[in-house]
Amino acid sequence: MEVFRTVLGDVSPEKSGVILTHEHLLYGYPGAELDHRTVLDYDNNVSFIAAQVSKGMAEHGYGTLVDMTPPEVGRHPELMAEVARRTGLNVIAITGFFPERMGVPYYWRRQTVEELTDFFVKDLTEGMVFAWQQTPYRAGAIKIATGQESVTPMPSPIGPNGRRIHEVEDRVIRAAGRASRIVGCAVNTHTDPMDYRVTNPGIEQLDILEEEGADPAKVIIGHAFVEPNDDQLREILNRGANVQIDHIGIPWRVETAEELDELMANALVGLLADGFGSQIVLSFDRWFYNPRSDVTESDPQLANERVDLGYLFTHFVPRLKSKGVTDEQIQAILVDNPRRVLSIKV
Ligand SMILES: [Zn+2]
Repeated sequence: MEVFRTVLGDVSPEKSGVILTHEHLLYGYPGAELDHRTVLDYDNNVSFIAAQVSKGMAEHGYGTLVDMTPPEVGRHPELMAEVARRTGLNVIAITGFFPERMGVPYYWRRQTVEELTDFFVKDLTEGMVFAWQQTPYRAGAIKIATGQESVTPMPSPIGPNGRRIHEVEDRVIRAAGRASRIVGCAVNTHTDPMDYRVTNPGIEQLDILEEEGADPAKVIIGHAFVEPNDDQLREILNRGANVQIDHIGIPWRVETAEELDELMANALVGLLADGFGSQIVLSFDRWFYNPRSDVTESDPQLANERVDLGYLFTHFVPRLKSKGVTDEQIQAILVDNPRRVLSIKV
């Protein structure tokens, strides 16, 4: 039997609705949970998130959302579960980590591949730990991340393994590959757009995941937009992996959302013409609640919480249709493809 492993338990993928493969119900960079200015007003925050989710479900058919927030970025299992209870949304949490330069706490940098594998498998099969407490809420997918994110974006240097992947990231990715093989779950990745100028970060991630036995058909290479050229995307797709075009309506690393839409729509139309329609997924990378929205307000590159809940459906899908993309192709991208990749055999 195939299931989605949601925070409220295993459910049938048949009732997936529209699937958003990379979102964040609560988001704060590592350390934000220690700040006086970010203390949660828990009930109000949950209500705020749930109200948006309910609107997205009613008006745009959201049915399943992967909360791609890693443990050190404010992953909050109980909050996810409460939003799921109040709205009926399938919420899939992840285990895994942020890029090494932005995350992976020191404690975890010291762990072996075996220990990291065990951590991921326990999150996926027994339940995640939150603030020193075991919770009953299981993760349903794994996140890995690479890239030299900084105030001034730049490509990653070559790491000790000869790839543009840092030492700790290498271990995390190996553990993710093993855990994915053991549990049969998806791995969704963060690539940094700048790295596509010097390498194919999706291929570097796939190389390591496959060395550890992961099935490329269960891998989604994320943030595959802006920088990658068509050949780089085809190289990933020819390996049997999936590509996620995200930041729909969020002008990350470009001037305007409009500019990004056009870039992504053209890339997508080209890939569809080449027959890769069953290996593409779409998402926003939206922050449903960002406790520091006061600081991000002035920074258009951090507009993740301000994108309209329907933008994907009211702006991006019509743009695709105007370029000849069919309803069947859109159904595959928003429902069938992510459903297949996120399903776990039990
Ligand atoms: Zn994200």
